[in-house]
Amino acid sequence: MDSICNGRTIDGHVDRGRSHHDGNGSDNDASKQKGTGFGGAQLRHGGRSGRCGRRGFKVRGTGGADVATLSCPGGVSRLGQVLDENASIFPGDPETSIEIVATVENDGYLVEAISMASHTGTHLDAPGHFIEGGRTVDQLTAEELVWSAYVIDVRARMAEEGNDFQLSSDDIHAYQREHGVIPPGSIVILYTGFGELFGTPAYEDTIPGFAGEAVEHLFVEHGIKALGTDTFGPDATSDENFDATYTALVNDGVVIPGMRNLGSLNVTGDIVMASPVQLRAGSAFQVDPLACHGR
Ligand SMILES: [Zn+2]
Repeated sequence: MDSICNGRTIDGHVDRGRSHHDGNGSDNDASKQKGTGFGGAQLRHGGRSGRCGRRGFKVRGTGGADVATLSCPGGVSRLGQVLDENASIFPGDPETSIEIVATVENDGYLVEAISMASHTGTHLDAPGHFIEGGRTVDQLTAEELVWSAYVIDVRARMAEEGNDFQLSSDDIHAYQREHGVIPPGSIVILYTGFGELFGTPAYEDTIPGFAGEAVEHLFVEHGIKALGTDTFGPDATSDENFDATYTALVNDGVVIPGMRNLGSLNVTGDIVMASPVQLRAGSAFQVDPLACHGR
């Protein structure tokens, strides 16, 4: 199993902040998502599923108080799939090919040549994916790639009634009665547990998603800016017209399919950031979303 915590150590100019290596479950606050889905023991790297140890980031500047800070009391996590040639691909998309064209042993450096769809694995869809004249990945601004995250965990519902359902605006209202009103600028993330199945045939099984009218409600009434899922996309298998994706994109929003490690997220109170490579006039590009956990 690849590591979620395989980032490099940053050099001495950055304050490492506090770290925690406790395995005693002290972080298991009531908001932690529970469920019996595919979530996983193999994702544990510390006190909390899927999280790395670092909580605070502060640049040690020379200018006194005017330094940037990023406060993530619950640590940070990566929410992207690892990419290899077994990556699940949306039916009809080209195969993924990763060719090693130079090696340290032979050439003194390692270089790969990669061929894949811009929609393979964890990626960000820009409005131009479905909308003629819609904005493309190179036209998105930095501030619209940072969101408050609202996680809708449907694993228990899937276990009860199967995967063939669409979340309605009534379901969104029920979620808000429990967790509070979803504010403008948010990303709403559907947590199905399919992230653990990426790269296996089961990833192509029937999936739930958002009904188009629920997406319309979220974007128009709540002013959210993004949808995320740990599946091929926010469209349920039964949504043959891709209403959910279309409705997000026609409202100038973005969509992040193919996320993983969603068990690391709090239901509310986390920040997610994801910036695609700026493919000129591109419909999408791969991202590795970062979560900054509020607790
Ligand atoms: Zn896509």
